Amino acid sequence: MTAFNVAGLLREPAGAVREHRLRDRYLSLAPDVELSGPLNGTLRLQRTNRGILVRGRVEGDVRRTCGRCLEPYVETAVIDVSEEYLPSIDPDSGVALPGPDSDEAVRAIDEHHELDLTPVFREEFALTEPMHPLCRPDCEGLCPECGEPLRGEHRLHDAEEIDPRLAVLARFLDRDRN
Ligand SMILES: [Zn+2]
Ligand SMILES: [Zn+2]
Repeated sequence: MTAFNVAGLLREPAGAVREHRLRDRYLSLAPDVELSGPLNGTLRLQRTNRGILVRGRVEGDVRRTCGRCLEPYVETAVIDVSEEYLPSIDPDSGVALPGPDSDEAVRAIDEHHELDLTPVFREEFALTEPMHPLCRPDCEGLCPECGEPLRGEHRLHDAEEIDPRLAVLARFLDRDRN
């Protein structure tokens, strides 16, 4: 959970700013995103007339599965955050405030004056998932003979057992499939 207490900032005039640095912040974004390491970045929380605007950039290593060879790999993903959070209770009186219009894309600051960025990180990192994830741009996929990933020594096995012209054709067909 990446929550910030904004009780102090809510009492300040519009325009007031707090900067927060994320350093080696370990977080679970399961089940949508599997991070392989901590998050790093900078977040700027600004008091607006009605709430808090959070903007910033966060980077993290994400686990993915290659669409060609089906092997897992890790990729660094960067997200830009820009979200407005509205208070659900008045920070001074503790009186519940009316919620936003239901069609408004805003998030709520909870009754402890905490603003949780974990759902935003989960959504934004999930959006970085490519349509066709590849472990590397030239991944050759799986061997058409035995189904093992075509890499390293396996290429030798492939060259020995398949006629070179057929190997080219096999690779071409394999690329077409994906
Ligand atoms: Zn691959
Ligand atoms: Zn093979």
